[in-house]
Amino acid sequence: MNLELQGLHHLTAVTGDAPGNVTFYTGTLGLRLVKKTVNQDDVSAYHLFYADEKGSPGTEVTFFDWPGSGPARPGTSTIAATSLAVPAGSLGWWMQRLTEAGVEHRGIDQRGGRQVIAFADPEGQRLDLVDAGDPPSETARKDGPVPSEFAIRGLHAVTLTVADLGPTAQVLTQILGFRPAEGYDGPGGARVAVFETGPGGSGAEVHIITDPRLPRGRVGIGGVHHVAFRTPNDDEHHQWQHRLAAAGLGVTPVIDRYYFRSLYFREPGGVLFEIATDGPGFATDEDLAHLGERLALPPFLEPHRAEIEAGLRPLRVTEVSTSRVGGGVE
Ligand code: ZN
Repeated sequence: MNLELQGLHHLTAVTGDAPGNVTFYTGTLGLRLVKKTVNQDDVSAYHLFYADEKGSPGTEVTFFDWPGSGPARPGTSTIAATSLAVPAGSLGWWMQRLTEAGVEHRGIDQRGGRQVIAFADPEGQRLDLVDAGDPPSETARKDGPVPSEFAIRGLHAVTLTVADLGPTAQVLTQILGFRPAEGYDGPGGARVAVFETGPGGSGAEVHIITDPRLPRGRVGIGGVHHVAFRTPNDDEHHQWQHRLAAAGLGVTPVIDRYYFRSLYFREPGGVLFEIATDGPGFATDEDLAHLGERLALPPFLEPHRAEIEAGLRPLRVTEVSTSRVGGGVE
């Protein structure tokens, strides 16, 4: 059988300020907090999941709350930026929203034939909003501060920085089944290579900047921990595990993350990759109408709820509603 990854599943980054993180991603960016849980390998840390109304794979941006981890250092072996797709024609509205929210940006740039606004979250996490020409999402968050006609559709692409393109490109194309796509000239004129998988296009792209002069980067606050790619079911997930193990990539066993199953490996450029199953999803332990309202714990951690809750700092979620920005539609 021909294994094919179906695009980006989620992106996991690092925050040192969980309350501010919730405010920015649910308020300013208007995503839905679909799961408030803990890092299963470090239960003293929140793991926050933002996504569309249903928590669909491909729309999830997630954060570990690691206030003691220090700042991320940009450089090679990192994910330098995360691109989020917005509906066709909505960047003008977003430019105004970011400006009114006090988020610095340089307006709309052209990148590889697409219009983009580059900015950062309050901790320096580098983000882009990209107009890939698609209509508004049918599964956009309901009743959020961003009108659904402008709502973020999901992940568009991740941009890796590596010191040497060859080994990373080889694993992407020879092992993971990605196809080379048309690259573009990035900021500073450096050529950015693009690879796509599955249906290709928005939501299924990996962009790669090659710059051997940069120091090796470091994961920390304001940086990305890993990116995950989609596989539809457990059968294919196990086949990926075997394929990656056979390729000598040091892949982990399949790990049950309860909302999906995961496996992890480091690509040769040093970036942590994950392959995750589409299911079972976030409504597996909470009603869809009440996702993310209470601390959710997978069954194996539920017996330890009292001590886990005692070890977490309180997370008071105040959504700053700036929906009045919606007046000036372009
Ligand atoms: Zn992950």
